[in-house]
Amino acid sequence: MRPREVRPLLRHPIAARRGIAFLFGLLVATSAAAQLVERVVDGDTIIVEGVGRVRLIGVDTPETVHPNRPVEFFGKEASAFTKGLLEGKRVRLEYDQERQDRYGRTLAYVYLADGTFVNAEIIRRGYGHAYTRFPFRHMEAFRQFEREARDNRRGLWGEVVGGRGGAPDGGDGSSAEARRETPAGLPATVYVTRTGRKYHLDGCRFLSRSRIPMPTNEAVERYELCGVCAARLKAQQ
Ligand SMILES: [Zn+2]
Repeated sequence: MRPREVRPLLRHPIAARRGIAFLFGLLVATSAAAQLVERVVDGDTIIVEGVGRVRLIGVDTPETVHPNRPVEFFGKEASAFTKGLLEGKRVRLEYDQERQDRYGRTLAYVYLADGTFVNAEIIRRGYGHAYTRFPFRHMEAFRQFEREARDNRRGLWGEVVGGRGGAPDGGDGSSAEARRETPAGLPATVYVTRTGRKYHLDGCRFLSRSRIPMPTNEAVERYELCGVCAARLKAQQ
């Protein structure tokens, strides 16, 4: 049996070459298990040697580098957290169905050598939201991590202090009277969008492009209630 299997391969050098190319491909894939993180751009974007700009799938951290917007609350902390975890480290990248986003960034799950799942860790520690605009295979787990982080008031889900969203460093932190009252009739959680300045109730049509859950007491500090949602809220009362 064996000689018959081997001989056709030897007679067909192209097939043999293809086999070698396949094995070489496997080797390349294996060596990709340890790629160097050259730089951390912000909490959810890194630059990986040989890959370029990588956006971590399923996690959204507060902005620090958007050209037209101020640094968002907890943006610096989120950036520092990701830097501490990843800068100069070797990582393994895994991919989901979409390999790139519309900005040409590679979309990936990032793992440290010790197995730490970085995308999940950022959410679990409260340095970012689960980003669920696009489906991905860990979405349910990430939503759960976010709920746990919020319930335990970790990171950006922590106690609301005065000055949030104003001064980049969060103000003096002692002015409890600076807290705004939550408008009557709002649920405990509202939704914001990746780029908008308003917060919304579940089901608002403006949430079709992105939908980031946020505790209402935090949203009212940083965003305005959307007009459509305000009308809906009034109609309910
Ligand atoms: Zn709305």
